[in-house]
Amino acid sequence: MRLLEGCEVTGLRTDPARARVTGITLRMREERGQPEEMRADVVVDASGRGSRTPSWLMHLGYPTVEEAQVITDLGYASRIYHRRAASSDWKLLVVLPAPPAGKRCGYICALEENQWIVSLAGRCHDYPPADETAFFAFARSLEVPDLWDVLQEAEPVGPIATLKQPSNRRRYYERLPHFPQGLLVLGDALCCLTALYAQGMTVAALEAKALQTWLQQGHTCSTLVSKTFQLQKTLANILAVPWLLATCEDLRFPEVRGKRYTGLSLLQWYVLQLNELTEHDPRVTASLFEVVHLLKHPAALFHPSLFFPAMRHRR
Ligand SMILES: Cc1cc2nc3c(=O)[nH]c(=O)nc-3n(C[C@H](O)[C@H](O)[C@H](O)COP(=O)(O)OP(=O)(O)OC[C@H]3O[C@@H](n4cnc5c(N)ncnc54)[C@H](O)[C@@H]3O)c2cc1C
Repeated sequence: MRLLEGCEVTGLRTDPARARVTGITLRMREERGQPEEMRADVVVDASGRGSRTPSWLMHLGYPTVEEAQVITDLGYASRIYHRRAASSDWKLLVVLPAPPAGKRCGYICALEENQWIVSLAGRCHDYPPADETAFFAFARSLEVPDLWDVLQEAEPVGPIATLKQPSNRRRYYERLPHFPQGLLVLGDALCCLTALYAQGMTVAALEAKALQTWLQQGHTCSTLVSKTFQLQKTLANILAVPWLLATCEDLRFPEVRGKRYTGLSLLQWYVLQLNELTEHDPRVTASLFEVVHLLKHPAALFHPSLFFPAMRHRR
């Protein structure tokens, strides 16, 4: 295996019929020279949110890739803190908003060397600030004061870093009427989910696992190349559940733009009952987390041991 660092992929190479990908063009980021060609039987685009595959395909004469977006206009501000001896011992603290009015949330996650990462986030342009005083004020404005209490005791280690993530975005390569052989798109290049739900790496790992299984099936080089589109369809199936989970939650906010499908309100209402039950019932908490962390199918949320308590909770 060979790893090339510091280079930028600038395009796809194909056969003259543009039906099969035969490699990529790349250039070293530090150099200003002409891109070089690198031949490959299979090219996997794992270049993240900024993937250029849709425009490369368009230049090759392929149709526009269908895309779905649920626009959250989400912003983050994060900072690392050192825990003082007398500090509380939270390993993970999550303060969620109460939609539709509440847009703000906050997280504390324990790191190595007695440190915490503290992240504040706001949807619908309610971005948390990089300025220290305003960062504290944002933390104080969360639904409950627990995170603010922790900040009082902790010592900042570095600067506040901010980031904006405009949307959940999914690309439907599997719906193209034709697709070049030997090409695969996965990870955030295929689907970016709201980072608040912490699913992106799990999804990427599930896709990588599907690729591994597929490679171990003993394909010859030509069947490998001719069946990449089939694998692209398998990757789309992996995405169905995380996309549903992430967008179902984001669409609770009226300002969030995206397709609201039949049955969404009922699903949101049901999940809300479960969320409220988690305050008192650790079994419900465990089941909900297993689904959110993609360990169980969402159908598990309708098991009688959850369904009947949720209905009783309603009353
Ligand atoms: C603030 C934030 C918090 C998150 N928290 C979590 C979390 O707690 N849990 C979780 O599971 N997920 C989380 N995620 C999501 C997770 O980071 C992503 O889903 C995951 O990193 C996607 O991996 P990837 O390899 O597809 O893309 P990336 O991690 O984006 O990697 C793409 C790589 O490709 C390189 N690249 C891009 N274009 C080119 C090019 N033309 N040529 C060469 N190289 C190129 C980039 O430099 C980059 O190194 C979070 C995301 C954000 C923004």
